[in-house]
Amino acid sequence: MKRYTLFIGGKPVETVRHADILNPSTGDVVGAMPLATVGDLDAAVTAATAAFEKWQWKSSLELADACRAIAAKIEENSEDLARLLTLEQGKPLNGLGSRFEIGGAVAWTRHTAEIELPVEVLQDTPEGRVELHRKPIGVVGSITPWNWPVMIACWHIIPAIRAGNTVIIKPSPQTPLSTIRLVELMNEVLPAGVVNVVTGENEIGAAMSAHPGIAKLTFTGSTSTGKKVMANAVDTLKRLTLELGGNDAGIVLPDADPKEIAEGLFWGAFINNGQTCACLKRLYVHDSLYDAVCESLVAYAANIPVGDGLSEQSILGPVQNRMQLDIVASYVEDARAKGGRVLIGGQSNGGTGYFYPITIVADVDHGCKLVDREQFGPALPIIRYSDLADVIAKANDNPAGLGGSVWGRDAARAKQVAGQLECGTVWINKHGAIQPNAPFGGVKQSGIGVEFGVDGLKEFTTIQTVFC
Ligand code: NAD
Repeated sequence: MKRYTLFIGGKPVETVRHADILNPSTGDVVGAMPLATVGDLDAAVTAATAAFEKWQWKSSLELADACRAIAAKIEENSEDLARLLTLEQGKPLNGLGSRFEIGGAVAWTRHTAEIELPVEVLQDTPEGRVELHRKPIGVVGSITPWNWPVMIACWHIIPAIRAGNTVIIKPSPQTPLSTIRLVELMNEVLPAGVVNVVTGENEIGAAMSAHPGIAKLTFTGSTSTGKKVMANAVDTLKRLTLELGGNDAGIVLPDADPKEIAEGLFWGAFINNGQTCACLKRLYVHDSLYDAVCESLVAYAANIPVGDGLSEQSILGPVQNRMQLDIVASYVEDARAKGGRVLIGGQSNGGTGYFYPITIVADVDHGCKLVDREQFGPALPIIRYSDLADVIAKANDNPAGLGGSVWGRDAARAKQVAGQLECGTVWINKHGAIQPNAPFGGVKQSGIGVEFGVDGLKEFTTIQTVFC
């Protein structure tokens, strides 16, 4: 079993303590995660601060080249990274799994390399010239979750360094190993200290949020942890980007074709086993086609192979950890107790690994956990509606506001309904699609700020207004 190390100031750093990381498919130990101390975090802040002295003055061309070199490194090592990701996260190599995630990390890195933030001239008149300059912020702290650890690490690190900042990343203690490997690879092409990794339990995240040497924190995780990050950041007035939990609604309009939309609905809800922030988590279907949509979805779901992530046949894998498995199972039980009709799945097989079957529950409504809370797992509630105004109000009746979707043949009508949803992204006849040139972020309690594209890059800068 491999003992991993921290990576600080361009060098591996040993720790005294370690914790075993388990394969969610088998329960086997995959490797040992180093448990950093607050002293290690301080060392990382010192290294990142020293690296920032030079990195902040690199030209846009040099910064873009560094990101291109990282993309090439990840690509060269993609199969090894994908296997490590599967071993610790559980997601299959195939389907929308580990190879897809590593490919996404490369694509986002390449795209971000090409984004420029040129000086904007706000005024150039005889009265004077006013320019808007974008400057890096300093040392950026990055805290990531366990669902898409490599891709999200790149969503944090690449725009941060592209804009001239240096970074300390702390991955989830559930999936730290692929991030350590990613940072090692980045360090093969970056100067020492530009990207550092510290791993350990949650208190390292809390210490980062409060650390006076960290100027900005970019956090992806649950809403409850995001609130703690914000509270801990208050004394240092850190800049924050918070990408938090979602409870995305999808509304199927009466003119939709149940067979045509089944595949899109399924993957909207079950990509990464439902462990995705912008998964379709509540599906509202018009009474007139309710049974037909349920039937097509169940028929599609029944043919998806679920199994050990390392098997080339698996398209979905296990839930990532025991705690999440228990949450999903308990929400399904609550729905059943409140009259929910389980159409498929609904019972853990109790064997090796954290497997829970693809589960679809009909005849549920608000007032049960599977609808009101974020299940973050392979269980989808389907709610019947008959009045459009009522269903829009219900879709909006949730503190989360990450994504939402509307499904129907009349695209203009669907778009008109979509505009009434309180969320950061809406999709028509699809759910969850993201791309590196389109800003993504939550409204309400799903977050603050956006990632991706020009707007995402700007979050890693401060404005300096120059009157000349
Ligand atoms: P989590 O909030 O439990 O953990 C996220 C990270 O925060 C981990 O690295 C964890 O160690 C760290 N952490 C824990 N306590 C902390 C503290 N007090 N201070 C600072 N950091 C702390 O989330 P998770 O279970 O890993 O991920 C699932 C959640 O993430 C879901 O709610 C999901 O919707 C959300 N998510 C959101 C997005 C988005 O873009 N909006 C993307 C992916 C996941």
